[in-house]
Amino acid sequence: MKPVNIGICGLGTVGSGTFNLLHRNNDLVSARAQAAVQVVHVGARRDHADCDLSGTRVSRDIFEVVRDPDVDIVVELIGGTTDARALIEEAIVAGKHVVTANKALIAEFGNEIFALADKHNVAVRYEAAVAGGIPIIKALREGLAGNRIEWLAGIINGTGNFILTEMCEKGREFADVLAEAQVLGYAEADPTFDVEGIDAAHKLVILASLAFGMPLKFESVYTEGITQLTPQDVVYAGELGYRIKHLGVAKQSDAGVELRVHPTLIPETRLLADVDGVKNAVLVEGDAVGPTLYCGAGAGGDATASAVVADIVDLARDVAINQSNRVPSLGVASDQLRDLAVIPMAEVKTPWYLRMEAQDKPGVLSRITSILSDAGISIEALIQKAPVPGETRVPLIVLTNAAAQGLVDNAVRSIEALDNITGKITSIRVEALDG
Ligand code: NAP
Repeated sequence: MKPVNIGICGLGTVGSGTFNLLHRNNDLVSARAQAAVQVVHVGARRDHADCDLSGTRVSRDIFEVVRDPDVDIVVELIGGTTDARALIEEAIVAGKHVVTANKALIAEFGNEIFALADKHNVAVRYEAAVAGGIPIIKALREGLAGNRIEWLAGIINGTGNFILTEMCEKGREFADVLAEAQVLGYAEADPTFDVEGIDAAHKLVILASLAFGMPLKFESVYTEGITQLTPQDVVYAGELGYRIKHLGVAKQSDAGVELRVHPTLIPETRLLADVDGVKNAVLVEGDAVGPTLYCGAGAGGDATASAVVADIVDLARDVAINQSNRVPSLGVASDQLRDLAVIPMAEVKTPWYLRMEAQDKPGVLSRITSILSDAGISIEALIQKAPVPGETRVPLIVLTNAAAQGLVDNAVRSIEALDNITGKITSIRVEALDG
């Protein structure tokens, strides 16, 4: 049988991991692909000592890989959305299949890229774009194909989870842990995408589109990062039986879909609460199967290469047997995608954790409870802590029952306007994750 030829563009963390994994496990990979899988061309603008490139054609210009008539599958691992998009589109138009790990590109331009791939009858696979080595794309697209997915919730940014784990276990401040994450190589020099939730939003929108069969709507994801969290919130959440995790949540109801990324209190009894450090996990609720949890390494060269190579095996098998009837990129054909409405955040209902500081004077508690009750927000728990040392201010923590964000925002503004309340109120959503 004719070998299947791979061209890899970009030999950074994931690119070199993929190159080396394809060599190390070549017998297994080729057996599973039912064809000899070989890397014939690599695009890298500098030398990479960790890859043995002898016997492989190397070009400084990545576009030469795409234009190589011997290459059947182009693997884009350069990142970014400009050159990567041009590279992928050129590969598609040339009739080549594409594998990518690029979540930003798929989240922001996936609709256009998948439409172009359909037009040219080639496939674009992107397992590594969400949760690194965890095969969550294939699970949603194929393994759970018999289910109506009701909701999913995921810890899908390892840097953010590392920071929250350290804050929780060691009581450390956000900025202090972020600096360490940068030294350890978990966080980029510019950590904005990680700590402001943008990276998680890229991944969430991909998961939601697969789960609900809808086009990618990155611009509709509500995104809140972890920069405002304090060690006190982590401690108080713990006292109430919760852990704080940065979650991506997608839910489907008759009103539409919720797409949101934000810090969340989750009960410490849930398995997701124990997903610590740089690990990722996604919990998916299907109507037939119930909850299923996918957990593992969300980043790193080898782990992410595992997902890239899985896509290569799938496509190499298709190339080897000349299969053209493939699983669509988002699980259903593009003309079957449903343009579901995204529910405005003001209407999204969750329970809330509210932390405020009040002057320790009579009557303050009753004024807070009346504002909440007048807004139709019921209180699940209210805790008054000991005063801040040397001061008369006391921390108050309120846990509410489910209430729409719009109502809670208004009530929070009214409480902040009270004479005896100092500073801003911290509001964090709560998810029971019990279906
Ligand atoms: P990386 O280590 O920065 O590697 C990117 C490589 O691409 C670098 O070697 C860079 O070359 C090269 N490159 C960039 N633009 C190029 C261009 N125009 N021409 C030629 N080479 C170019 O990045 P990475 O961590 O491997 O990430 C690659 C992709 O995987 C990204 O889309 C990322 O989001 C995704 N991903 C990464 C992980 C992870 O754990 N790292 C996990 C999941 C998904 P230079 O070295 O010369 O700059």
